[in-house]
Amino acid sequence: MSWLMEKIYALFRMNILIFVLLAATVIALTAYQKGLNDIQFLNLSDYPYIIAQTDSTDGGNSAIKLMRTDSSVVVDYELREGYPYPYAGIKILLGDGKTKGWDLSHYDSVFVWVKPRGEGTVRLYLRTYDASFYREGDEASLKFNEVEFFPLEETYPAVFVPQEFRVAGWWVAQNEINVHKARVDLSNVPLIEIQTGTNAPLGYGTMEIKGLCFKGKKIAKLDLVTIIVAIWFVTFLIILIIRFFDYSRERAANKKKREELEKNLRALEIEKSEYEKSSKEDPLTGCLNRAGFSSVLMREHENLVKNGSPVSFVILDIDHFKDVNDTWGHNVGDEVLVNLTKLIQGKIRNTDALVRWGGEEFVILCGDTPIQNAQFLAEKLRHAIETTQLIKQQVVTCSFGIAEMVAGEDPKRLFDRADKALYASKQGGRNRVTSATFKKSESKN
Ligand code: GH3
Ligand code: MG
Ligand code: MG
Repeated sequence: MSWLMEKIYALFRMNILIFVLLAATVIALTAYQKGLNDIQFLNLSDYPYIIAQTDSTDGGNSAIKLMRTDSSVVVDYELREGYPYPYAGIKILLGDGKTKGWDLSHYDSVFVWVKPRGEGTVRLYLRTYDASFYREGDEASLKFNEVEFFPLEETYPAVFVPQEFRVAGWWVAQNEINVHKARVDLSNVPLIEIQTGTNAPLGYGTMEIKGLCFKGKKIAKLDLVTIIVAIWFVTFLIILIIRFFDYSRERAANKKKREELEKNLRALEIEKSEYEKSSKEDPLTGCLNRAGFSSVLMREHENLVKNGSPVSFVILDIDHFKDVNDTWGHNVGDEVLVNLTKLIQGKIRNTDALVRWGGEEFVILCGDTPIQNAQFLAEKLRHAIETTQLIKQQVVTCSFGIAEMVAGEDPKRLFDRADKALYASKQGGRNRVTSATFKKSESKN
């Protein structure tokens, strides 16, 4: 259960921004539905710029009287014969009443409180100024956006949406208006007219007009949606950028970590190989110790068994070394050991292995070497040691024993044979080389 909660929490935390955005979008849309209203009332009872009008301006004979009450404007009129379409009503001036009016284009609905006491329709004109067809001082050149309706009790006040308005056809014809300018436009309305409709009967009538109201939203729906989409877009862009930088940073950190690990690994490998080397090396002379020797011995033995390549063993021991130590001191003894090693290293092949077997005893393992060659090498070394000043105090000599490895022979036995040969050299007076023989019976012992 807690695992599930953790998962949900992780998901929530990861997408918290998206949740916030979603919530904000829902709130914004709800707020838009419920509020953000833009309401413009035109209460005629105290609005000063109202003028009564009849067809007399067009040559007709109709008469009108305008009165104000506490809550409305009342016009008493008499439609008389004269003008072909007799009418009477009021003009409401907005803005300067000529070229600068109100922008009504963003409203969704128009409310009209008008009560005629009489028959017939009522006409509402929202007159628009447009510089492209306006004639200076000529009110008739303001566009006639019209709606004509029967004002009924049940539809009081009458409500219209902008789509219900039409531009009067006779006005388009009279003014030769371009087709693209002949559509409804409420962006600049300096004049509103409310008057009797087309078939108003002749005679007396009364009209009570309380006013108008324009209702809309402070922001257009399209603008709101555009803003929301833009916010979502920008947010996602920011998330993307942040993720990108996080990823780059993570990658850089990982790279650094990996490099460090690789460096450590290399150091460890070096340390390991040094350790391996030192574990196989004699610290005083730097040549192989017994541990290092065994791997070389195995390799050479394998070579012998597989390829029949001969392997020889040279064992040498410093003569009367105890005397050297006793006479000149242990340090001089060490010097002998170091210099002897150097001398031998200089005379054997790279493939030969020099091993400090213990104390002042050395073994040379010569691969691909029959006993005759080993004998030759031992003799060469013996001579070199004898004739080289290993230490300035005295001449040092060595005794040698040599043996050739026989396939399948126990290395210990091989060593014994060589050792016996060395012993023979010691017995024979030292500073000499003795070869071991191999008898089948020896290998069986
Ligand atoms: P032989 O001719 O019979 O071999 O006589 P030896 O005196 O060489 O024989 P022995 O084996 O009795 O003496 C070996 C001496 O080598 C004993 C020891 O003090 C000395 N020795 C062993 N290891 C070292 C070393 O690392 N340094 C020094 N300076 N001397 C060592
Ligand atoms: Mg010895
Ligand atoms: Mg010795």
